[in-house]
Amino acid sequence: MRNGGSLRKVASEGLAQFSQHFVSSDAFFVEIQEWLQYNLENLPSESSKFCSPFQLDELRLLDYAIEGVPCQLLFRMPPTASPSAEVDRYLAVEDFVHAGAQHLWEIFWAATTELKSMPLSVKGPKASIMENINSGMEAAAIPGVALLKKDSRAQGGMPWEDVVTFVEVQENTTGALSQGDDTVPGLEIVAHALFHGFLMLSSRFLAERNQAVHQNIDIAYILCVDSQKGGVVRLKGDISKLETITEDVYVSAAEWFREHVEVAVSPVDQVWNRFGNANWGDLGALQLLLALFYSIEQCQGPPKKDVAEMAAEYSAQLQQRRLERDIDEGREAGDTSSLHNHSRGKEVEIEEEEEVKISKHALVADTMHLEPGTILWLEDAQWQQGFRIHKQRGSVQGSLYIGVSLNDMEKLLTVIVGAHPSQLEPCWEDMSTWYQVQRQTRVLNIMKQQGISSRFLPQIAGSGRVMHPGPCSKESPAGRCDHPWCGTPVLVTYPVGETLASAVEIEGRISADEALRCCHDCLSALRSTVSVGIQHGDINPEHMMRAAAADGEYYYVLTDWGHAVLEERDSPAISPKFSSTSALQEGRLCPASDAESLIYLLFFVCGGAIPEFDSMEAALHWRDRAWARRAIQQQLGKVSAVLKAFADYVDSLCTTPYPVDYDIWLRRLNRALPHGDPRRMNDLSFGGSDFATESSGTSAPSIDN
Ligand SMILES: [Zn+2]
Repeated sequence: MRNGGSLRKVASEGLAQFSQHFVSSDAFFVEIQEWLQYNLENLPSESSKFCSPFQLDELRLLDYAIEGVPCQLLFRMPPTASPSAEVDRYLAVEDFVHAGAQHLWEIFWAATTELKSMPLSVKGPKASIMENINSGMEAAAIPGVALLKKDSRAQGGMPWEDVVTFVEVQENTTGALSQGDDTVPGLEIVAHALFHGFLMLSSRFLAERNQAVHQNIDIAYILCVDSQKGGVVRLKGDISKLETITEDVYVSAAEWFREHVEVAVSPVDQVWNRFGNANWGDLGALQLLLALFYSIEQCQGPPKKDVAEMAAEYSAQLQQRRLERDIDEGREAGDTSSLHNHSRGKEVEIEEEEEVKISKHALVADTMHLEPGTILWLEDAQWQQGFRIHKQRGSVQGSLYIGVSLNDMEKLLTVIVGAHPSQLEPCWEDMSTWYQVQRQTRVLNIMKQQGISSRFLPQIAGSGRVMHPGPCSKESPAGRCDHPWCGTPVLVTYPVGETLASAVEIEGRISADEALRCCHDCLSALRSTVSVGIQHGDINPEHMMRAAAADGEYYYVLTDWGHAVLEERDSPAISPKFSSTSALQEGRLCPASDAESLIYLLFFVCGGAIPEFDSMEAALHWRDRAWARRAIQQQLGKVSAVLKAFADYVDSLCTTPYPVDYDIWLRRLNRALPHGDPRRMNDLSFGGSDFATESSGTSAPSIDN
């Protein structure tokens, strides 16, 4: 260690001296020009060493993730001909960087309360001149705009070690080497970008206090913009490989770039339209935003919100709109009297059509269909586990199977197969398996970590990625090869049963005792998860599973936790028939929302009719009228006085901030079951003793009888 330390000290001293002499970007340009020209000329062919820093998929995912969250600009980009163009251009760029970073921060990082305000600020030439005047120092022009840490302690000039992203602002970024649609940035601007990127990397290396902060101190993102377009240059290089004892620092730096640095250059694309507004959803702006995203991630750590998760939420909204449109179209076909198009927010019909086509194609080509008898091997970081598929679950061709573990051939398991990762974002069909598999795996794991165990909740028997037959040429554990199964995520749970939806389809309705059990078991499951802050958000008859216990009696398991609401920003699923009022109204849950959905579910499985709704308003209107006329209470009253009283109780809580008193209702339900239900008293995960006393018959007075 001491040796390493002293070597580092020597290297730092060399680099500090080197940096004092490395001051002229023009001198650097002379040395690097030829090499840059060769590589930019050959873009985007393979003989160039410069690839693009971003994949189209990454950009699309970010686009989906930030969709629908407005991003406001204060300053428009001025027209090029305006007299104060240069000053205004800097202001517009500063505003873009600030708005973009703030936006990303709020969406992805600020989810936790302690990090509400962005710990980054924007510094442009104007700010720095003002600062220098105030501090009586000589004004030093800053050659661009920087996003830097707010707590930067450096004084005067540009504190390069605290720069998170740097922006080169020029009159024209498009280079002479551009051909047709292949627009590459100009030689000089890339050289400036590399020069400033070098300053960022070398200062970070010298400022040891930043070592712990910067996740990848070897990577720097530099944006290159003019008043219309922009692109991104990324460099990745180990500064310790730089030859610092040298006659000519520029020759040495150019040599370091040629030998030890991976340079990535994006195409230059439109960012601001002719009115001077940023085109947030366009490729050009998305490239800049993604560079900001990665830069923030470098210095602030991974985001609290996952990009894929956010994109999935957007896909869920798309799904909802499509559902509404399908209903409208159905009405149009059958009944032409009144067709009101339900439009909320932005409409992107053309894109949707394209997506539907893609998804159908994808389903035909890539859905993994498993024949009975197939052995499925899963791997995760620690282990590999085999499962044998027995049969498909349900009649619909899809991703649900029943199988067993090779370690325990007795116990039946539910095997849920996700979409192939490459299919993830283009279509919502795949998004719904993302909720079923990836998100549900996360939620169930959180429950497990929180120590929740309840027989009324699904348990994980295994999860991981499919290991396909034949050779696999993936390059890293998280990578994937060309095999259509490679990397497909799978979740295996137990117990196994039939959904309440299919039971009702066959039996028409369920008996009074079953309705009481269903209500009891669901509330018991909810009591456990609410105790660790998890709400289900998607209770409906498809997500309630009826399983048979060893003695042949049914019990109910609340499944499908993929849409669970863990924190304020999570949105519940939207189902016109079963969603709670506040989910439909505000896209949020209140504490009694799951109980409210449970009431609609009970109403439905006890023979109550819920119509097909052609809009959210219609669904809300039905709820209003049904509660006002006490239609739900009347229907449930025919089944059980306790269910009726519970419906009244939930009605009083709907859309209020008051929590559900689970214990009291579990006691009442249990007492209403034939002779009480001893199994339900004993296997409650907590509060069990409480229940035993209650059921002894000597307990507190009860309102139901
Ligand atoms: Zn493979």
